[in-house]
Amino acid sequence: MVYAVLGVLGLIFGSFSNSVIYRLPRSLSFVRGKSKCPKCGTEIKWYDLVPIVSIVLLRFRCRQCRQRISLTYPVVELLSAVGWLLSYFILSDYGFTVWLYSIFLFQIFLIIAAIDFFNYVIPDSLIIILFAISAAFGILARLSHTAGPFGQLSLYSLLAAAVMAAPLLAAWLVTRGKGIGLGDVKLAAVAGFIFGVLGGLITLYLAFILGAVASIVLLIFRKANLKTRLPFGSFLGVAAIAYIFLGVVLRDFVSLFFR
Ligand SMILES: [Zn+2]
Repeated sequence: MVYAVLGVLGLIFGSFSNSVIYRLPRSLSFVRGKSKCPKCGTEIKWYDLVPIVSIVLLRFRCRQCRQRISLTYPVVELLSAVGWLLSYFILSDYGFTVWLYSIFLFQIFLIIAAIDFFNYVIPDSLIIILFAISAAFGILARLSHTAGPFGQLSLYSLLAAAVMAAPLLAAWLVTRGKGIGLGDVKLAAVAGFIFGVLGGLITLYLAFILGAVASIVLLIFRKANLKTRLPFGSFLGVAAIAYIFLGVVLRDFVSLFFR
């Protein structure tokens, strides 16, 4: 029963994430305004907005213009449901606040990964939200003397942000913003702020590996050449999500050997 509720909540938040992913880079309000078909602009009826179900019933096409609807929408919804369930399995032992915070982090990093993938931009507003909520959580963790998997706010958090941002800032300066964007630098800084030096470096390393694998695959299938720009923020977002869920498991595993 719990799993069903969490799965449905995940789908609903996935649906909301979709509207943020679509509207934020286009400067459209995602609080007001009805959902429209991106192709023909027809307002989408409420019964066609049920996550997963509607799109399958419509066979991945708009009811009005019959043009294909991007697979991103159902994929983001499914990923959200999986994320909600995973965070429940892995992080609910650390208490309700930590669990809620992990879901927040997961959802924002998912939105950032998708927006950067489609638009090559990371909205500042999302970085600020990540930073503000994480600072609040870090202070709360400090006041309640709980360590949790994400740590407390300290000077160390700021140091970690600087350590994470430094290599990307160097890359940004060297490539003059062509390889790495300033948004990537800010995202790396906030990831360091959240995960600490070690967690941040693991995340960064994972992002580079993902980026390298993606480049090799694209080169092999000739979908890209050496000048193709890759959305580094997407790899960083995916790596951050992996670290949110696997970081704790990794730490538990390592601590088995160092008791
Ligand atoms: Zn349409």
